[in-house]
Amino acid sequence: MFHLTVLGSGSAGNCSLLETPTTRLLIDAGLSAKRIGERLAGVGVAPEQIDGILLTHEHSDHAAGISVWSRRYGTPVYANRLTAEALSKTTEGVQWRFFVTGGEFSLGEIRVQSFPISHDAAEPVGFVLHHQEIGVGFLTDLGFATRLVLERVRSVHTLVIETNHDEKLLQDDTRRPWSVKQRIFSRHGHLSNAAAAEVLAGMVTGNLCRAVLGHLSGDCNSPELAVSTVRSRLAQSGGERIEVVCATQNEPTPRMRIGGIG
Ligand SMILES: [Zn+2]
Ligand SMILES: [Zn+2]
Repeated sequence: MFHLTVLGSGSAGNCSLLETPTTRLLIDAGLSAKRIGERLAGVGVAPEQIDGILLTHEHSDHAAGISVWSRRYGTPVYANRLTAEALSKTTEGVQWRFFVTGGEFSLGEIRVQSFPISHDAAEPVGFVLHHQEIGVGFLTDLGFATRLVLERVRSVHTLVIETNHDEKLLQDDTRRPWSVKQRIFSRHGHLSNAAAAEVLAGMVTGNLCRAVLGHLSGDCNSPELAVSTVRSRLAQSGGERIEVVCATQNEPTPRMRIGGIG
């Protein structure tokens, strides 16, 4: 059994807490160390109780807090080599632990699998984490879900997935130059609400019980829009039973139980 709390998610910073009875991990640490500490305190977790930080990629909205956090609390940071290298100038003193993308390792009670995703970073990854037979997937910052990605997340119970933007709102946005929009829309950019909904719709025959939507753009999306796009697509595919939760930038989600009893 896991508990998942998304401590914050959006273009200004992403950080999630995943707990089993004896192991606690952060997935990304893109908020400041101070903010992460405050939000952990809200769910009764002390910084010293974090066993490791798993890093998806080096962009600051995922990695901004690791340097201060790792030096202050000695928490090891798990990343692939290219991600760590991309951060080497700003992360002196960080206790790196390297993993090979596509491989598998255990961290306490949690089995960690990583897989490559398509995004404009050095070596970005998604994660599937298992405790006993229950799986949780993390799929943020990807322009496009490849067959490999769909295969890897196929049997998870809960999937944290990016619903970055509403395609029409981004198309009509007048503040972003075309080059920026093109990057977001590209195969190395970010998933739209509709693209994420499509991924989830393909999972309704598996074990999926909950989708946690995250990384919403502040001005080209809203939680209502993301949730309604995903819900209606799921309903078309017979996935009405799947719970849809939206993570936000300023408030942690409730502490969500994944599998087990109690
Ligand atoms: Zn990001
Ligand atoms: Zn990114």
